[in-house]
Amino acid sequence: MSVVEVRGASKYYGELGAMVDVQITFGEGEFFGLLGPSGSGKTTLLRTIAGFIEPDKGQILIDGKDVSAVPVHRRDIGMVFQNYALFPHMSVFDNIAFGLSVRGVAAKDAGPRVAEMLALVRLSGLEERRPRQLSGGQQQRVALARSLITRPRVLLLDEPLGALDKRLRQEMQVELKQIQREVGITTIFVTHDQEEALTLSDRVAILNEGRVVQVGTPSEVYERPNSAFTANFLGDANLLTGPVTAGPNGLGAIDWHGERILTADKLASGGQATLAVRPEKFRIEAAEVAPADSGEGPPRNRLRATITRAVYSGNATTYRASAAGGELTVFAQNRTARLYAIGAAVTLVWSPEHTVPVA
Ligand code: ADP
Ligand code: MG
Repeated sequence: MSVVEVRGASKYYGELGAMVDVQITFGEGEFFGLLGPSGSGKTTLLRTIAGFIEPDKGQILIDGKDVSAVPVHRRDIGMVFQNYALFPHMSVFDNIAFGLSVRGVAAKDAGPRVAEMLALVRLSGLEERRPRQLSGGQQQRVALARSLITRPRVLLLDEPLGALDKRLRQEMQVELKQIQREVGITTIFVTHDQEEALTLSDRVAILNEGRVVQVGTPSEVYERPNSAFTANFLGDANLLTGPVTAGPNGLGAIDWHGERILTADKLASGGQATLAVRPEKFRIEAAEVAPADSGEGPPRNRLRATITRAVYSGNATTYRASAAGGELTVFAQNRTARLYAIGAAVTLVWSPEHTVPVA
């Protein structure tokens, strides 16, 4: 059974749908990323799960029970926010023990639990410090310890690393994942940073304008985006649009300004389709040596193009290449000494498997 289920939840502010018909389940022990641009409804969804926001429609279930009537402090949820307000006048120990004292756990019993939490977040020995005597990363670990000490059923994190600089943020990502694995707690993590979401999450949900537009593992949503929005939001994508035509061997195909582009997916005949291709899926061949497709082996896409821009970055080069239908972005790892100059005639070769229809 899912630990948390959001069932058809909506929240409107006037005409604005901050959360629209959200249906999503979070499994036991899962590290689940909610990813979307600013204003897409991530915080609204998280705060609805926590109980701070009452949805206009729909329910939240925890362990299968509707918690609509259960207030925030009784939902058995731990939370950390971007502006992790620690109590400035209280020691690290007292900050972490706070959740226990609220629940009436005697001070003498709190000691071992706090020690356990300090060890978990690797802050043992710092219990007498005040928050201002800690670095940003340490403060965030105190906030995490404080939210975990009551052993909640679910941990909700709203851009918890957003206030940290890039280096520290990357260190904390690794730590956060490790701590989550040690504790095994179901964690729902909000971020607008795609790399952070892909790195940390077991599964991610992509949000846009209050709606969940796609759910899947990081590789599923990256490799098989179901919309132009997801394709563009998660990295770069080339979008090729044209009328659907017939392809060989049951492959789908479009006519892209006179070039036939194949996809491994079936396409509904008679209309237009848009196909997404990630820049790293292309292989570049010099046009003069590229043989015509012999018709043997699995069908490949082959497209004539001219290099119009090259940005060299050491281990890779990002090209722009002009083809009949428009400009494409091509990412090439620098495996060989071959670099293509502006104006070079090339053939782009790639697999129909890497040519994904998007709505
Ligand atoms: P995110 O966390 O993805 O940046 P939010 O969930 O905070 O997005 O907000 C989603 C949308 O709802 C935004 O357009 C935001 O301006 C709006 N919104 C959020 N809270 C309120 C509120 N209390 N009153 C009016 N509009 C709100
Ligand atoms: Mg937010």
